[in-house]
Amino acid sequence: MKKIAIIGAGIAGITTAYSLAKRGYPVTVIDSRRYPAMATSYANGGQLSASNAETWNTRKNIISGIKWMFKADAPLLFNPTPNVQKYKWMLGFLAETLRGTHKDNTLHTIELAKRARDIYFKIADEENIEFSLLKKGILRFYDSKKEFGEDVAKKSWIEQPGMEWDVLTPDEVVSLEPALRTANAKNKIVGGVYTKSDASGDIHRFCMNLEKVLESKYGVEILTNTSVNDISLEKEKIILKCGEANNFENKEFDNVVICAGVNTQEFANKLGDAMNVYPVKGYSVTIDLKDDESKLGAPMVSLIDQPVKIVASRLDDKFRVAGTAELAGINTDIRQDRIRPLLKWVKEFFPEVSTETYTPWAGLRPMTSNMMPLTHESKMPGVFYHTGHGHLGWTLSAATAEIVAEKILSKG
Ligand SMILES: Cc1cc2nc3c(=O)[nH]c(=O)nc-3n(C[C@H](O)[C@H](O)[C@H](O)COP(=O)(O)OP(=O)(O)OC[C@H]3O[C@@H](n4cnc5c(N)ncnc54)[C@H](O)[C@@H]3O)c2cc1C
Repeated sequence: MKKIAIIGAGIAGITTAYSLAKRGYPVTVIDSRRYPAMATSYANGGQLSASNAETWNTRKNIISGIKWMFKADAPLLFNPTPNVQKYKWMLGFLAETLRGTHKDNTLHTIELAKRARDIYFKIADEENIEFSLLKKGILRFYDSKKEFGEDVAKKSWIEQPGMEWDVLTPDEVVSLEPALRTANAKNKIVGGVYTKSDASGDIHRFCMNLEKVLESKYGVEILTNTSVNDISLEKEKIILKCGEANNFENKEFDNVVICAGVNTQEFANKLGDAMNVYPVKGYSVTIDLKDDESKLGAPMVSLIDQPVKIVASRLDDKFRVAGTAELAGINTDIRQDRIRPLLKWVKEFFPEVSTETYTPWAGLRPMTSNMMPLTHESKMPGVFYHTGHGHLGWTLSAATAEIVAEKILSKG
């Protein structure tokens, strides 16, 4: 049986390990951090959202992006410092927009998101994985009539079984999610769109708990604190070289899947593979719902405030609010001026929720310029990539992991 290594234990790596272990392969997962899912798969928005599968390659987003460049608390922040990778990515984004791939890519992404959702539900049942899963759908709400009208118009092409696009009046929005009943929220909301088949859950807990199952039930070897520095091919074996402080120096494998998130681009550069993955930074706050008033005042349905692109999910006694996109390279510094709009949003829509105790976080979305995930083989035979899920890594990885596993299987 072929020996397979997976570089990276975020959601892309953990789901790949599961897909391959289920097919009977001996798998080793290697991560530079002390525990799985400590990078971008740590504190994201929590949404398993076919309804958020739209790619961003639209002229409207480019115009909004240009306007937002001059606004400090805008959903998108652009750092103008020259950087080849950033400008290459932006040019790629522009080219995709001009090619008009938005609709086709969105429909393909919805397909993947629906498939992934079913796989997550199955894994949760079969492996008894607890991850604060809530099958309560995702509700978008709007305080802008213009944005609401534009999204309602998408119903004709975007809606399909498993990806409902139920258009709601303001009263229906509030009766679906009573936490939005506060006067301030009610006065602002002009309508909503609800996708009842969507879900939410804690990505970090999912990865941590599935990792335990991988080790105990499927015999997967998990090497943490182990950074892969180089990949080479010798006599049809793939050799991984790791730093001195790690658990091993060189190891031989038949296949390697690179799931290193935003670091995957570095591997592609070394292997001479064309790739255009850029780190698009986002922020979240995780609020401890300590008192009953906060618990009652926080929503249970996962939300998207469409005009400001903020997403929110209830994770048991925590409330996660996430958003913003920043083009600033590999940099996870937490900027308070990017956290503040998230806290302000909570105060505005959920005034009963105390924000006295919260944890701020920043993560880097590994994003391709057309927003489509990558599952292809490298120029180095036997090495595959599984990355580039951008704002939808949680939503899509279980399905794209299956694609990678099938590609490896088909190579014999
Ligand atoms: C603010 C925010 C909100 C988001 N909200 C959502 C959401 O609601 N729904 C959704 O679907 N998606 C969401 N996303 C996107 C999603 O979180 C990411 O797409 C996903 O977590 C990426 O997973 P990954 O496994 O590719 O990368 P990571 O989780 O970053 O994993 C990569 C792993 O590789 C390891 N690694 C890197 N280099 C090496 C090396 N040389 N050797 C060994 N190990 C290495 C790292 O340590 C890391 O553990 C959000 C992202 C952000 C930032």
